[in-house]
Amino acid sequence: MSNCLFCKIIAGEIPSKKLYEDEEILAFYDINPMAPVHFLVIPKKHISNLMELEASDAALLGRMFYKAQELAKEQGCGEKGGRFVINTKTDGGQTVDHLHIHFLGGRALGWPPG
Ligand code: AMP
Ligand code: ZN
Repeated sequence: MSNCLFCKIIAGEIPSKKLYEDEEILAFYDINPMAPVHFLVIPKKHISNLMELEASDAALLGRMFYKAQELAKEQGCGEKGGRFVINTKTDGGQTVDHLHIHFLGGRALGWPPG
């Protein structure tokens, strides 16, 4: 999508600190980290949010989560864990309308979110 920030990152029009890339998925560090380890995993296909997921996207979402946990372990969070988050639409506090999984780790995180 032409006016989407994350589509521009995928296209290389906006720089990012990439962690992983394949034909379907991109992972990069969050520009405003909320924890010592904070990265995002996104599909290269533009999907605005989780509510827009189609049945045919289910395997893609599974791959995104699988990659997210692999990367979390590579970043040293395998033992203590962390949080995998998908903020969705207005009440979820989503600010970029391109589906993304956050991973936050490296410190104890509070619950519930504010
Ligand atoms: P959300 O609020 O769940 O939609 O998350 C969007 C996330 O994208 C926020 O944590 C931002 O810090 C992050 N973000 C925004 N612009 C960039 C960028 N250019 N590179 C990396 N992360 C970004
Ligand atoms: Zn997009």
